[in-house]
Amino acid sequence: MTTLPAAGLADAPVPDASVLDAADPLGGYRSRFLGADDPSVPAYLDGNSLGRPLASLPGVFSSFVTEQWGGRLIRGWDESWLNLPLALGDRIGRSVLGAAAGQTVVADSTTVSLYKLIRTALHARPGRSEIVIDRGNFPTDRFVVEGVAAETGAHIRWIETEPGRGATLADAEAVIGDETAVIVLSHIAYRSGYIADVPGITALAHERGALVLWDLCHSVGSVPIELDAWGVDLATGCTYKYLNGGPGSPAFLYVNAALLGEARQPIWGWMGDRNPFAMADGYVPADGIRRFISGTPPVVGMIAMQEMLGLIEEVGIDAIRTKSLALTDYAIALFDERLAPLGVTLSSPREHEVRGSHVTIDHPSFAGLMQELWSRGVIPDFRAPSGIRLGLSPLSTSFAEVEFTVEAIRSLLAPRA
Ligand SMILES: *Cc1c(COP(=O)(O)O)cnc(C)c1O
Repeated sequence: MTTLPAAGLADAPVPDASVLDAADPLGGYRSRFLGADDPSVPAYLDGNSLGRPLASLPGVFSSFVTEQWGGRLIRGWDESWLNLPLALGDRIGRSVLGAAAGQTVVADSTTVSLYKLIRTALHARPGRSEIVIDRGNFPTDRFVVEGVAAETGAHIRWIETEPGRGATLADAEAVIGDETAVIVLSHIAYRSGYIADVPGITALAHERGALVLWDLCHSVGSVPIELDAWGVDLATGCTYKYLNGGPGSPAFLYVNAALLGEARQPIWGWMGDRNPFAMADGYVPADGIRRFISGTPPVVGMIAMQEMLGLIEEVGIDAIRTKSLALTDYAIALFDERLAPLGVTLSSPREHEVRGSHVTIDHPSFAGLMQELWSRGVIPDFRAPSGIRLGLSPLSTSFAEVEFTVEAIRSLLAPRA
């Protein structure tokens, strides 16, 4: 792959997008996505909120409806659907989480999974009543923590994070104490794209007797993850971002095998019972990760992500990460050349080691530009009050889309600056 000048060597000319696309070894995968060449959307940089659908999906959904649902009818539950949350969880574990089988299920939303896992952590650390979370975390993560605190009497200890970064090992060092039951953090900060030190913070929490819960929404499918090797206790993440599962596809939830024996989650439902069809009087949790399921599996919502997992397995997460860095390098080089002179600021890290797959830029006029950008089919994502996130989905985003977007922003901003 053509390499870009290192950050700081601003004198070197920024390469042309067409040169980078032509040299991109993963460039051919773009055609596997539906709508990648739709002329009404010349640039889609919001795959970090909703990944594009795979082009194979119309056929896959059609055969699901006719053969599986229509053909097998209720027999489908016993034949495969009831086991799908576990089978698909194992596949996600193997392909993108670095997790051995039996620790991951697909069920519910990320929000509900966070609730289940935070309650599980409090139950697993009796005598400790503090939850640590950072103020920069995604709203739903903070709200669920606040809700659990209100419900259980747990105390919240907040980490204040610097703008453009996320929670650091030093932050964790300063706040995790004898009372801490669990620390809830995002692997990649949703605003800045900052990558947290998962192994370091996890090891520190364990030294101090606390558990960790990592939110992987912005990292799964875009950066390598090794949950087992890192010793992570609990994790969850959504599947409609870089796993391209489609709007509202269910989350995955991971519980380390070491915790599973005693683990108790709060939403007791028949599908997590040892014997769902016994219709018995009292709940007895199933062995293993199945106990984290509550109700009927959302089977239709699990179809699309399987196609994307197949693609990720074919390409390999390391090659995906290399492309992701090339895309964010390019976005930052274009920012330096065309947007910084107009007063736009960079709110994402420049260092590779701590940079995820999106780049956030800020300017007070950005809120006023979004409608015009969207009407031109240039679709980045906006985060109030003034941030545009350029979400770079490694297998479906071209360098041309990055250039098109930055140029559109420059041309709209220049007359106002
Ligand atoms: C996208 C995202 C969520 C979304 O949660 P849902 O329950 O799927 O709506 C949660 N946390 C983070 C960090 C996210 O980026």
